[in-house]
Amino acid sequence: MSSRPRFVYFRRARFRLTLYYTIIQLVFLAALGGFLYYRNHRSMLHELQRFVKDETRDVMAYLPQYLPAIAQHFETESQGERYYELSFRLLDPQGKVLARSRTFRDSYTEPIHAEALQAALEGDSYSEFIWLPGRPSRHLLVTRSFRRGEVRYIVQTLAYLEPLDSLSRRFRQNIYVAIPLFVLISWVAGYTLSRKVLRPVHEIARTARHITSTNLDQRLARSRSGDEFDVLAATLNDMIARLEESFDLLQQFAADAAHELRTPLTIVKGEAEVALRSNTSDPETYRAALESTIRECDRMIGIISNLLLLSQADTDAVQLHKETLRLDDLLGEVADTFRILAEEAGLTLEVGHLPAVTLHGDRSRLHELFANLLDNAVKYTPAGGRITIACHADLNEVRVDISDTGIGIPEDQQAKIFDRFYRVDRSRSRETGGSGLGLSIARWIATTHGGRIEVHSAPGAGSTFTVSLPLGPGTAPAEGTTPAAGNP
Ligand code: ADP
Repeated sequence: MSSRPRFVYFRRARFRLTLYYTIIQLVFLAALGGFLYYRNHRSMLHELQRFVKDETRDVMAYLPQYLPAIAQHFETESQGERYYELSFRLLDPQGKVLARSRTFRDSYTEPIHAEALQAALEGDSYSEFIWLPGRPSRHLLVTRSFRRGEVRYIVQTLAYLEPLDSLSRRFRQNIYVAIPLFVLISWVAGYTLSRKVLRPVHEIARTARHITSTNLDQRLARSRSGDEFDVLAATLNDMIARLEESFDLLQQFAADAAHELRTPLTIVKGEAEVALRSNTSDPETYRAALESTIRECDRMIGIISNLLLLSQADTDAVQLHKETLRLDDLLGEVADTFRILAEEAGLTLEVGHLPAVTLHGDRSRLHELFANLLDNAVKYTPAGGRITIACHADLNEVRVDISDTGIGIPEDQQAKIFDRFYRVDRSRSRETGGSGLGLSIARWIATTHGGRIEVHSAPGAGSTFTVSLPLGPGTAPAEGTTPAAGNP
């Protein structure tokens, strides 16, 4: 069997959460246990010191009466029923042993050292811990002095600390048992808790696993509690909604593109078949078929170039060649290009007052933007109509209005005309050679220059497309104006 599932388990957040939680608990319990052990041991030791000092004082209080039979008295005292084994010895101020109990004699034969003697003679009690051979626990040795008449005596009390050590040992053993037990409880509690906390994540993952491009309308279930997992589910739902929208757009886009290309291809194929079937030797028939083929090919190349440009624009892959340019000159050039076309269509092209405006932009893209708008104005304005170009600039932006007196656009369609392949009247647009991409490209050029494009139109009365472009630092309305680029 492979060991992979085991590793997957160890990588799971539930395992890691439980592990961290348990480690924290372990550190905390160990620190608490250590602290309690230390404090407990210290206070027991403190209590014991007090107890031994008190015992020494008691012995000293009775000592004068028993001085003649002192050794016997020590024996009696040290043989009493005591929790701690106590033994005593009596010394003179020079440290010479005068009497001692048997246990003291058996276990401690060292003479009193100078420091203890000095402290006792100065009236302080002196405590020290000592190890004696053959004894597994420490002893507490307390040295005190007392006076009998003019004579000073020193009493040393030796307490065996075995009961205290065994208490501490038991305390330690309890800690050693309790900590693993608590760690186990922590692990189980942590595991159960993290399982409960992470359940929404599993639910999100389970639903998300089943969402594919074919069912992007599905959404993740939300708890509506407002917690982090609910926010995560909401964010993912928003993301899925955006994906769904993009996917729909993409599908629509592909279907529209296929549809747009199928028409010219059908025409090319039809023309070729007719020419082939005609079986004529008349070159004009073939010429007409070839001319039509070239026309439709041009149309397809136009559509494909526009599609390519828009898809590159979507991925920000279009390089803009920005330069400082005079917008009034550019508008004059575009107007000149369209003047003949307008005249041929029986239209008047008027260029209003163009203030001298310098801005930073891509000359050929901006040319394309205004050319698209003028092209539409020519296409959708019946003969006898008028097209006007006007320009207004302030310190922050410049606005260019391209107005016509054409067929206009119904109110409910005005927002849609900037969508790809959208045309108000497909049949009419096809006649005029439009594919519904011109305004999409115009809007992209405007926005990529930091500007925007808006339309005001009334069916039958005409349309005005307004392009607003920002004037950045160093690009502002210049002093004075250039003459209008010539009115027809
Ligand atoms: P097309 O290549 O079809 O002109 P556009 O994207 O340039 O595509 O325009 C989209 C649609 O907007 C057009 O099909 C047309 O119906 C409408 N339209 C654009 N400009 C005008 C205008 N000046 N007057 C009336 N309708 C317009």
